[in-house]
Amino acid sequence: MPPFRAPRGTRDLLPDVSAGLRRLEGVARSLSDRYGYRAMETPMFEQTAVFERGIGEVTDVVEKELFRIAPRSEEAEGWALRPEATAGIVRAFVQHGMQTWPQPVKLTVVGPMFRYDRPQAGRYRQFWQWDAEAIGDPGPAVDAEMVEMGYRFYVEAGVPDVQVLLNSIGDGACRPAYLELLTAYFRRHETQLPELERRRLDSNPLRLLDSKDPAMTALVAAAPRIGEHLCEGCTAHFAAVKAHMDALGVPYRVEPTLVRGLDYYTRTAFEYYRRGAEGQQQALGGGGRYDGLVELLGGRATPGIGFALGLDRVLLALAETGATDVAEVPPLAVVVGADPADTAARLRVASLLRGEGLRVRAELAPRKLGRQLETASRDHAHFAVIVGDELAEGNVQLKDLEAGTQRLVPLVDLAHELARAAKSHHHG
Ligand code: AMP
Repeated sequence: MPPFRAPRGTRDLLPDVSAGLRRLEGVARSLSDRYGYRAMETPMFEQTAVFERGIGEVTDVVEKELFRIAPRSEEAEGWALRPEATAGIVRAFVQHGMQTWPQPVKLTVVGPMFRYDRPQAGRYRQFWQWDAEAIGDPGPAVDAEMVEMGYRFYVEAGVPDVQVLLNSIGDGACRPAYLELLTAYFRRHETQLPELERRRLDSNPLRLLDSKDPAMTALVAAAPRIGEHLCEGCTAHFAAVKAHMDALGVPYRVEPTLVRGLDYYTRTAFEYYRRGAEGQQQALGGGGRYDGLVELLGGRATPGIGFALGLDRVLLALAETGATDVAEVPPLAVVVGADPADTAARLRVASLLRGEGLRVRAELAPRKLGRQLETASRDHAHFAVIVGDELAEGNVQLKDLEAGTQRLVPLVDLAHELARAAKSHHHG
């Protein structure tokens, strides 16, 4: 047993997995560009109050899962690692006066998020998300555009059978009356409610619909549905979102119990699932409209919508379908030397080639030339550059390991020769 291990709920992404993550990040960045979302970064930690307000105090994420940072005595204010990106982005929107920028402001963040959750399959304490936010557009067209961008991510990432679940959760005009209905319903069944849900009934009854407790499944299924209690404005908005989705041809299913159980979430709510894996733990991503959030974090009332797609779960889904393998790209050339001890000459030639943008390894073990060449073949390198006495006249031997040929090449032409070969053989 090694004395140290990665903390519980975290994992090292070894090069093969890390390459998969970078590929997903590439898809996310490319889509962000095409859809007009500009990349930004927010700190990995914020004042705890940003999350308490921006996510809601009566949520799993804040109540149970917030990764709090123990403050040093002189820094009294509480901080927490970001459990998601929206609150930080909206905090930045307000702080930097982005309401004066041309609207909507479309922003994106890709990076690690942290939740002090009980670790299990697909649930980590550090995980990666692609987050996108469109702030300043009341929709409904931008809602559909956003849902479609997320859907396209799964298509381009290669996850098969992804389905969009869609709902409207109303707004300030219709939700209060619905919440009264919902509260009355759960009150009638109060004895069946688990402890946590009973406590939430007073503070945030919508949240009960989102419960992860299996004891709630039947109760939730029979609960009054927000979709049947939408006001005129929300009904029209939802109909228009669906019409835009139809026009875009994105397959979706209206899921009446889907909520984002937070007060400031309004209207459109959506989640992405693999077909047949619609359980709570398996959401690949989700998002929604939050027309109250900017104001809640101290800005002028501004509508917004965003999503957060979990990249770890995409990697898991791809591993299941066997589509994660990112092949290691071999070096174009390995620089070896006739004099086992002269590692400096090999390093110098390799450095020169790397400076020209070529993928080159220098064999630095002080062993015989024959053994050095064996490592070059083992690496599946196309060429070996042999540094020997010819270097005094400015030449090296270039050995084509695939063709089995060898010739003398002036050092000044070497990078050019290799680059030309790389191009004609499609080396990376
Ligand atoms: P949420 O903000 O909880 O809706 O999360 C959005 C997405 O992030 C989810 O659909 C998951 O794909 C991913 N996600 C959330 N929490 C975790 C976690 N603890 N571990 C891995 N992925 C997560």
